[in-house]
Amino acid sequence: MCDPLNNDLPTEDLMENLSKFAKRFREFLGDEQFRHFINKLNNPITPINGLYWWQEQAYERFSKEEQEFAGLSMEQIRENLLVCEEHLVPLSTGIVRVYCDNQGSFPPPKTPEAPNANLFEVRPAKSTNTTHTRVYFCQSCRDALDDQGITWGD
Ligand SMILES: [Zn+2]
Repeated sequence: MCDPLNNDLPTEDLMENLSKFAKRFREFLGDEQFRHFINKLNNPITPINGLYWWQEQAYERFSKEEQEFAGLSMEQIRENLLVCEEHLVPLSTGIVRVYCDNQGSFPPPKTPEAPNANLFEVRPAKSTNTTHTRVYFCQSCRDALDDQGITWGD
């Protein structure tokens, strides 16, 4: 049976693929805090080698309660939380085109409703001669942009 109300929810299968850490951490924080935490991890201005203070505090509280997850490195936390904050499904990796910022104007590679579409990257012209790069992306985000007619990028 097709229930249209459920169309926006991740499928059971995708949710099953979330790491055990991610599932338990989500339960511990609640969806709103969990999404906020993930959003900062997926946001490029997040310090690469560390967590924000409030993120460290959240992880500390969690790992006191769930000792099997205590003592993880920043990299291990990151690896276990490769999740889309909007769709709460695991991120995939793929190769996308790199455009230089002097190559004209671009449609959004992502939107607030599709924060991990990452259809392509735009970099300052002087900084790169790379043509392609590997990114994390969320297929549900890309599908959402597709529905809005935003499909370009190769
Ligand atoms: Zn998504």
